[in-house]
Amino acid sequence: MALLSLQNVSKSYKEGASTVQALKQATLEVEAGELVAIIGPSGSGKSTLLSIAGALLQMSEGTVEINGRNIVHLSAKQLASFRLKELGFILQTSNLVPYLNVLDQLLLVKKMGGKVTKDDKEFAKQLLTELGLSDKFKKMPNELSGGERQRVAIARAFMNNSKVILADEPTASLDSKRALEVVKLLAKEAKERNKAAIMVTHDERMLQFCDHVYRMEDGVLMQQS
Ligand code: ADP
Repeated sequence: MALLSLQNVSKSYKEGASTVQALKQATLEVEAGELVAIIGPSGSGKSTLLSIAGALLQMSEGTVEINGRNIVHLSAKQLASFRLKELGFILQTSNLVPYLNVLDQLLLVKKMGGKVTKDDKEFAKQLLTELGLSDKFKKMPNELSGGERQRVAIARAFMNNSKVILADEPTASLDSKRALEVVKLLAKEAKERNKAAIMVTHDERMLQFCDHVYRMEDGVLMQQS
């Protein structure tokens, strides 16, 4: 089953009197267990696509279904709680909260959705351990390396156990060894927990770990492999 489905999605931005057609009838399906990459030059529409898939930006035309739910008609408030439950985001930089330790970065996700249970704490510790951070629970972000911070951000994106993970150039701030590790972790999470993951990347070396590769050019999305 496709956990993430975009059908004929278009997006145009108004710029004064002119209109930029940033996305032209893009269709994309990501199945459970898959990591899909989107590559393409700067300005081709990748961020626009990811923002629409992440329910952060309204499309002009088309349909988006996330985990079987059509999000087109949800209100802003419904979208906010939908994102919290159904999506995990990983961004270019880790965006950790500077005054929270590693464990609390993950628990914050649960706090925003209600309260934190003992099981949540155990799950957070399990995720951090899987990501090689078992000795860092109490560390603050400024005591971690760039790669460690990005792994915390990944664990945080997995914390709500959402079926769909969206990653916007997650390896941009990492050296190639760490970058490969991060992408392998994403692929592993998708496979082992039956999630759909989609990653925008500039780095061709990362494509070996992806199940499918799409290329975006001038707002047109094409499947490459
Ligand atoms: P990429 O992520 O591949 O660099 P974007 O999705 O950011 O591409 O941009 C696609 C096109 O849409 C570009 O021409 C960009 O200038 C335009 N664009 C993006 N965001 C906006 C916006 N908020 N307002 C107007 N134009 C935008």
